[in-house]
Amino acid sequence: MPADYHTHTPLCRHATGEPEEYVEAAVAAGLTEYGISDHAPCRPEPFDDWRMSWSELPEYFDWIERAKTAAAGRLEIRAGMECDWLPGCGDFIAELAVQYDWDYLIGSVHYLGGWDFDNPKWLGKWAETDVDAVWTEYWKTYAQMAESGLFDILAHPDLVKKFSYAPKGDLDRFYEPAIEAIAANGSVIEINTAGLHKPCAEAYPAPRFLELARSAGIGLVISSDAHAPNEVARDFTKAHAIAKAAGYQETQLFNKRKRTAEPLP
Ligand code: ZN
Ligand code: FE
Ligand code: FE
Ligand code: ZN
Repeated sequence: MPADYHTHTPLCRHATGEPEEYVEAAVAAGLTEYGISDHAPCRPEPFDDWRMSWSELPEYFDWIERAKTAAAGRLEIRAGMECDWLPGCGDFIAELAVQYDWDYLIGSVHYLGGWDFDNPKWLGKWAETDVDAVWTEYWKTYAQMAESGLFDILAHPDLVKKFSYAPKGDLDRFYEPAIEAIAANGSVIEINTAGLHKPCAEAYPAPRFLELARSAGIGLVISSDAHAPNEVARDFTKAHAIAKAAGYQETQLFNKRKRTAEPLP
């Protein structure tokens, strides 16, 4: 089983469970590595209601320590964060990067301007928005995140499809500039199985994006984005099949921000 590197903790205010429960779920799923990557603090504070604050970082480190204790001898625990890519975030991401001996940092685009477009709270906004314009803005932002070079793993590449608002027809015009930016920078992408349980009913990214990423030599990890213990490694068998269908034969492991390849099961 590959690692599951994209998972959350209750510090983000929308996840449940104790570190021991996540560790038991990871062991039961047959994972050899379990990575914790909760939503990182942003600035200025207060920022929003779905992340830890800067002052809660020590609690996050305690949570990771509890997971390590529970996992000892059975499972490797890796430590990361899911960081939001925001205009001008470079300074606080650099500050976050030295707060802990991270194994990886994940970059995500959840915000376009002040709109966290994947938040069900603002679902109504989608119906009154030009979908093509949102997609254009999203992919431009995603490419900028890749170009920043701040992150080891880029999360849920086509999260913008979450609520099934998508332009019709061929989407390559959106994918290609992002693929180019990711390949040039050397970060890896994830197959994020949470998408299977959202209105889009498809893992992130779409098979076509994955095929292009594989052709461009972009590395891959497989992630559940678990917000509860029973979501750890969810649908990984499906994800392996999706990865193989796109031509992938390996996934990447991260240790102290260095990566190595491991064959897909
Ligand atoms: Zn979350
Ligand atoms: Fe996310
Ligand atoms: Fe997440
Ligand atoms: Zn996520």
